[in-house]
Amino acid sequence: MTAATRPVRVRIAPSPTGDPHVGTAYIALFNYAFARQQGGKFILRIEDTDQKRARSDSEQMIFDALRWCGLRWDEGPDVGGPYGPYRQSERSAIYREHAQVLLDKGEAYPCFCTAERLEKVRIQRAAEHISGGYDRNCRELPASEAAARVAGGEAHVVRLKVPIEGSIEFVDMARGVVSREATEFDDQVLMKSDGLPTYHLANVVDDHLMEITHVCRAEEWVSSTGKHVLLYRAFGWEPPQFIHMPLLRNPDKSKVSKRNNPTSIFYYRDIGIFPETFLNFLGTLGYSFGGDREKFTLAEMVETFSWDRVSLGGPVFDVVKMTALNEKYIHELTVEQLADRVIAWRLNRDFLVKLMPLAQKRIKRLDEVIPLTEYFFAGDLDYTPILGELKIEGVEPAAIAAALLAFVDKLDARVGWVKADLEADMKAWATEHTWKPKQAYPLIRLALTARMAAPGLGDTMEVLGKELTRRRLRRAAEAIAAP
Ligand code: GLU
Repeated sequence: MTAATRPVRVRIAPSPTGDPHVGTAYIALFNYAFARQQGGKFILRIEDTDQKRARSDSEQMIFDALRWCGLRWDEGPDVGGPYGPYRQSERSAIYREHAQVLLDKGEAYPCFCTAERLEKVRIQRAAEHISGGYDRNCRELPASEAAARVAGGEAHVVRLKVPIEGSIEFVDMARGVVSREATEFDDQVLMKSDGLPTYHLANVVDDHLMEITHVCRAEEWVSSTGKHVLLYRAFGWEPPQFIHMPLLRNPDKSKVSKRNNPTSIFYYRDIGIFPETFLNFLGTLGYSFGGDREKFTLAEMVETFSWDRVSLGGPVFDVVKMTALNEKYIHELTVEQLADRVIAWRLNRDFLVKLMPLAQKRIKRLDEVIPLTEYFFAGDLDYTPILGELKIEGVEPAAIAAALLAFVDKLDARVGWVKADLEADMKAWATEHTWKPKQAYPLIRLALTARMAAPGLGDTMEVLGKELTRRRLRRAAEAIAAP
């Protein structure tokens, strides 16, 4: 059976390197809709081979975020399945075996070049405008010499013997034939010197062993697909079908990045966008339901799904449009349903139990609770009335704004979200800027609450959550920097 006739198996393969990205949900949605429409399987695989970038909390966040969206996977690290393990860090032996297969077939070779040598060669070749950064120095080493050096324990990587000439072609279901010249490719590294695979090897081996029939992923991987096709060829395997989805853009057409718009799925959950709106909105960014209809359910998308309806025009991730769509969903609810949504969002016992320690000592009557804590139930705050207060005596506004953004980055890297860590981060940040707490903390308080007086900042950040905290700090920085 060819990939086109086998039962459909598709996957989403996020790397757990940070907050769950809206782009992951976007790609997951198209894979999911196709799998369900075909009666196939939708698989979640965690690509955590890059140990330096992997974050311990990120995997769970991916599970939580995709579940919040309403996308369920049939196989994955948490639900198991017949093709596991589904976490690449647990598949090292599989990759080693497969690298060995290629070595034995003469399709790959050990490379002993040091990082210093590679760097020198790269610079020299760039200066001479020679394509490819590696000179294939170890490619023609006699097999006996290479084997002896490996046996002697010499540090090495494993590289693929990429054809010296010819073209590499694959069909992208949306783009047609994509063709690249072999000369554009280096002899790519398959196994690193630490014995771990590169993304390319792990991705191809897993897609093959997991019997993936269609690889639908972001267009940033188009340029890697040629390498993957070479790997399939070297193994003697049939590649899956490919389709690369365009990257999400901001309304100004720049690539969505956390510098401009929140990119964490949780931000949209926390500001009270419904999961069905979120998926519906992502669906409109590439799926034409028919006519100019923009509001459709996941079930409707599944029922009608076909790649012919998927377009590659630059999808604009416009929060204003998403909000307008959410409004339609709100208007269609009964008041009881709406009340339930509000309860599920913030007005629930779990959230109030977290919030009450901040209010208890500050109120005498219950009618003070809501006015005292209303900024926990709001999205963006209006800084206009307090703009004059958003300052540190003797420091230029631009420097304050830059410092606030540096704090956002520090919080971005924070694993977990608990008061003690957040206070430590804030203290370290103030010290780095040589500011005393009494200079720096009022600024943070104003940014987070738009008030001069509010509960402790560690508590406030913890209860507000990572998304709103960062969003407010960033908006305060923008308000300060604006002329
Ligand atoms: N781990 C890659 C990512 O994070 C997966 C790319 C693919 O789907 O092949 O996007």
